[in-house]
Amino acid sequence: MSRTPQRGVPTIMPLQSFIEVAPDSHFPIQNLPFGIFQPREGKPRAGVAIGNLIADLSVLEELGHFRSPEFRDRQVFSEDSLNAFLALGRPAWRKAREVLQHLLLSETPTLRDDTSLRTRVFHAQKDVVMKLPVRIANYTDFYSSYHHAHNVGTMLRGPENALMPNWKWLPVAYHGRASSVVISGTNVRRPQGQIKPPDASAPIFSPAKSLDYELEMAFLIGSGNSLGDPVRINHALDHIFGLVLMNDWSARDIQAWEYQPLGPFLAKNFCTSISPWVVTLEALEPFRKPLPSQEPQPLAYLRAKNDFTFDIHLEARLQTSSLDSPHIITRTNFQNLYWSIAQQLAHHAVSGCNLQPGDLLASGTISGPTEESRGCMLELTWRGANPLKLSNGKSRKWLEDGDTLTITGWSQGDGYRVGFGEVSGQVLPVTPTP
Ligand code: MN
Repeated sequence: MSRTPQRGVPTIMPLQSFIEVAPDSHFPIQNLPFGIFQPREGKPRAGVAIGNLIADLSVLEELGHFRSPEFRDRQVFSEDSLNAFLALGRPAWRKAREVLQHLLLSETPTLRDDTSLRTRVFHAQKDVVMKLPVRIANYTDFYSSYHHAHNVGTMLRGPENALMPNWKWLPVAYHGRASSVVISGTNVRRPQGQIKPPDASAPIFSPAKSLDYELEMAFLIGSGNSLGDPVRINHALDHIFGLVLMNDWSARDIQAWEYQPLGPFLAKNFCTSISPWVVTLEALEPFRKPLPSQEPQPLAYLRAKNDFTFDIHLEARLQTSSLDSPHIITRTNFQNLYWSIAQQLAHHAVSGCNLQPGDLLASGTISGPTEESRGCMLELTWRGANPLKLSNGKSRKWLEDGDTLTITGWSQGDGYRVGFGEVSGQVLPVTPTP
């Protein structure tokens, strides 16, 4: 379809909402991420972010805007999690996006011209409390950044043996702990546990001294698969609702002593933080990039037609009690992941493992080839050997009590950003033992 160009008007106008959205806002009409919020008065319910506002989906649902075959007569947006909506599958997710994009468009009068309806539908983001977007059924953490795996492997085994022999054949992962996944803004309590000092013959019980962050992203399973039924890779995306930012808080000294031979346990199960807004695959579609080539070629069950990754710029910021403003300590990109989300999902389910709505599947630390693109302190300081220098003359080997670590990320469009908001948490001292 072509439109006659008008004088002085660009031929391609990006979609615009009647809600004012700044060019660097993470939440223009092109994004429309889903989340769960609680207004000052009332119960948690579903919303989408638009500019600095949230549109209350439970109100729009009550008014009948989502009455369509895709929703199968289900009311899903007055619930306190997105799980029921996720279980409806991609046709309903697409329908919801289409309805919302239409309602919020500058040309659509339904909300734009009805002041009392607008008062019921819109909340200022600053006036609400964000909740976990889903009841997280299960949580898995992959290890899919080549540079992260290579750096950590080099520290442990030297550059010759940095990657384990399986690493380029399968997306390595471990099953994590779902109950301690928390929403951005939740403080993280420094854990304590068994630590073995390098020159000691026995472990001691102590607060973790090498507390770390891991800059990650994670995707949420929408519709699941039945136990015993693997998901074919070319159908993997049907099961993925969207992505969030994640900080996989890690206690390196506890990890070093406990991890062999079964992998991380207490070093990772004390807190994992995610961002509140789930950005859908539909919103990320303009930012698809070809997956970097994989050598050796993976087995057939991991080969997808036109597999892809996303161009998502990612940053980690450190704020300490003595810094005037936060320091950006990591700058990286989602494209630094070797394995795609389709490959991760297909591999996870190839055993017949049943994925469920609300499962959280995380990328692993996203490090790139440069020093500034390293996604955790372990790599940035090379296990504490090269402390980070801060502008006030202080330095950091690991996170200290009172430090706040914030991860943010966005895809840059032409005049707009599809952003993820942020995931942030402050380190609290260890709980005093009586
Ligand atoms: Mn991790």
